[in-house]
Amino acid sequence: MTITRTWDDGPVGEIFGTTKGSAAWLKASGAAADAVDPRSPCPCGGTTAGAAIGECCGPVIEGERRPATAEELMRSRYTAYALADGEHLYRTWHPRTRPPSVEPEPWVRWVRLEVVDVVDGGPHDSTGVVEFRASWVAGEGRTLQRGELHERSRFERRAGRWLYTGPDTAVTGS
Ligand SMILES: [Zn+2]
Repeated sequence: MTITRTWDDGPVGEIFGTTKGSAAWLKASGAAADAVDPRSPCPCGGTTAGAAIGECCGPVIEGERRPATAEELMRSRYTAYALADGEHLYRTWHPRTRPPSVEPEPWVRWVRLEVVDVVDGGPHDSTGVVEFRASWVAGEGRTLQRGELHERSRFERRAGRWLYTGPDTAVTGS
């Protein structure tokens, strides 16, 4: 997954590495995904608005529940980005297309997910497409940057498990 930054293609990773809530910050502060209060609102916004993470993406990330739909997997992957859980991202990426390892962008904090469109990806489908807009911020105060990742993601079901195969079309963020 590549990120479209609104400006400044320089090496912002170092400068903004400590943005509160960013992957680098979570790592440095030891606030790992499993330390998240299951009653807190799910970063994905919830399939039903405001759902707690323990009833939304949490069990999927923990491997306790298989996502029934491509959208459910997509939401859990967004939440894994928000919580800097590279392992879940790697595990749910199709072996045919996945990179050797998945490290969430270290300097950004993911703040909002909007699912724009869903094509197939249901419990009886073998493929699916989910289009989303994911908003992020980096830096603070005067150095604050905002951006958006807009992607149509493709998913395939393999041996009963939904897997991410890659972007259908990468759409430039606004
Ligand atoms: Zn969720």
